[in-house]
Amino acid sequence: MKAHKIWIDAGHGNKDPGAVGLNNRREADDNLRLAMLVEPLLRARGFGTGMTRTANNFTTSRVTAAMNANADIYLSLHRNDNKGESGHGYETITKENFSSADNALAQAVHRRMVEAGIQRDRGIKRINLSTLTSLPARIAGCTLEVGFMRNQRDNELFDQNLQRYARAIVQGVCDVYGAPIPEFTTIDAKLIMRHVAKIEPLNIEQIKRYDFDGNGVLTANHALRILRIIAGLDPKGSAGPVIFKGGDEVLIAAA
Ligand SMILES: [Zn+2]
Repeated sequence: MKAHKIWIDAGHGNKDPGAVGLNNRREADDNLRLAMLVEPLLRARGFGTGMTRTANNFTTSRVTAAMNANADIYLSLHRNDNKGESGHGYETITKENFSSADNALAQAVHRRMVEAGIQRDRGIKRINLSTLTSLPARIAGCTLEVGFMRNQRDNELFDQNLQRYARAIVQGVCDVYGAPIPEFTTIDAKLIMRHVAKIEPLNIEQIKRYDFDGNGVLTANHALRILRIIAGLDPKGSAGPVIFKGGDEVLIAAA
């Protein structure tokens, strides 16, 4: 099974802060925080991934890079803005001339985000954002506007629910595309530890599920890695995201 490749685009960055909200909070930073949680979760489910940026400074061209990387899916992460403080809530956007794949992705992600806990459901909007209109037809894409930068409650929800939002986005993608690898739970970490401690050895098939390195040997690090995934942290720790390698690597291990 070929894993779908998902491009995660943290909106704005470099000299463009995006919307600037209460206490000079910058949209570009919030978008990146969410993107950095979404990427390892997608990788842990066996998807290939790529990111426009992993820091504030970047040189990647958004859509061109996604096309060059053969991405199938494009998630553009943003937070919303209006001039006053009245705007609040969550919305998902597709281009006006959306494809059925764009729509399926937007519907699934939207539903999961609403479930995750938002202030107000603003629905799915059809707006010709330049990023979305420049995507080729073969890439399904949508933009998420995760609350308003000038609304205090939206900001609180963003901070409190950041990990839930990341999981919701991944779940939405899985709803449409399936996931090559089932979601890990703490039971998986426990099974690895019992195997490592020689209390309850795993069989070959079970070992393959956790054998990220492909060398047939499980250590406590494999359990730690799964716990990091569950916690919404990068599974490889400080090594940072692996662009378009993690998904394939995990896939090989699970094959
Ligand atoms: Zn934005």
